[in-house]
Amino acid sequence: MSAGKDTMVPLARVLSRSFTLVGLLGVAVALLAVFTTGFILQRDYARDNLQLLANQAAYSAEVPIIFNDERGLRDALQPILELGDVAHIQITNANGAILATLDGPTLAPSESYLPTMLVPDPAQAPIYSGGSRIGTVVATSSGQGTGRLIIAAIIGAIGCISLIAFGTMAVARRLNHILVAPLGAIAKIAHSVRADGNFERRAPPASIAEVNALADDFNALLSKLHDWQGQISSTHEALLHRASYDLLSGLPNRSAFIERVRDIIRAAQRSDGRFAILFMDGDNFKETNDRFGHAAGDKVIAEVAARLSPLLRAGDVAARLGGDEFAVLVNHLEADEHAGAVANRIGQSMQLPIAVTERDAVTVSMSIGIAIYPDDGDGVDILMQIADGRMYEAKNLGRSQ
Ligand code: GH3
Ligand code: MG
Repeated sequence: MSAGKDTMVPLARVLSRSFTLVGLLGVAVALLAVFTTGFILQRDYARDNLQLLANQAAYSAEVPIIFNDERGLRDALQPILELGDVAHIQITNANGAILATLDGPTLAPSESYLPTMLVPDPAQAPIYSGGSRIGTVVATSSGQGTGRLIIAAIIGAIGCISLIAFGTMAVARRLNHILVAPLGAIAKIAHSVRADGNFERRAPPASIAEVNALADDFNALLSKLHDWQGQISSTHEALLHRASYDLLSGLPNRSAFIERVRDIIRAAQRSDGRFAILFMDGDNFKETNDRFGHAAGDKVIAEVAARLSPLLRAGDVAARLGGDEFAVLVNHLEADEHAGAVANRIGQSMQLPIAVTERDAVTVSMSIGIAIYPDDGDGVDILMQIADGRMYEAKNLGRSQ
């Protein structure tokens, strides 16, 4: 059972998707762990730092508050504000009335893009003079450190994701080279075997041991299939030959001769051609068998066939119909007499004795009947019938007619 074509995914895509997924997941987990820890540490650090700055502001504010010197207060706190970590400093007196509010160069997180949960709460520090509390400093964080951390986190994440993307691409390319391409080559060859029976191609060696073993076995299988194919086609050819040719004489047999005559009739119909069929039967052939044995008879049949072939022109056909019966088709007949001339030549060629044993030789004579296409008929059966009838007439008139 196989999955539907539309549910199938190429191996290369599965591999690159898996690597991307695993890589991104790894990066996400690592970034989450690193930055969660980083944010917690940063927040603690920022909180302590803010408290220190508030304490320092309280210390610096003491004298200006005693002398009610607002300008002095600003001058004293300016260096703290310029550090950038504090967004506002608010000074209140012992009764809670606001004496001054000073803004730093950066905004408070609540007024900017920063998430306030990542920023420490405002820090308070009391202002003492001579042991009594004369006011309070409230310092609001600017979240500058957290902002830097967020930017670092974004740059780090982009860097890691790019690294993973390049890594995944490199791994995918390597896997494509060592795994997907060799498997693809095997698939391509299997397809070409299936599509056009081409067993010549071989899968290339692969660097992965299992894929290489698969390629080796596949190639061995192809060689075996190639051999089988060769054996089957030669057996097929031999069977075809045996079905159409007579083993003893090497000539086409009766059914092959009839097929050839049919083809020649079709061609003659198109070109108004004429041809003759010569039907031949050996005279008193049984005697040769009786006197010299069946093997001697076989020798005679083979020799008769061998003597027929040189008498034919291109386009003519000789066949052994069976027993001592032969047929010759004389094609492209210009004159009817030409068929008689071929019959005479056949008769003459048989006059030379055929050696059947070391000491004995026989002389064969053939009775021949001739039918002419299209005068005697336009079909193979009628032509054969007429030629056969005329052969018997000849035989009855006396052998060798
Ligand atoms: P006829 O003059 O009337 O033709 O007489 P015939 O002796 O030639 O006999 P006929 O043509 O009727 O029969 C052919 C004989 O040829 C029959 C058989 O003994 C012999 N014969 C048929 N096929 C083979 C064969 O393959 N090898 C051999 N050696 N003899 C065959
Ligand atoms: Mg005979």
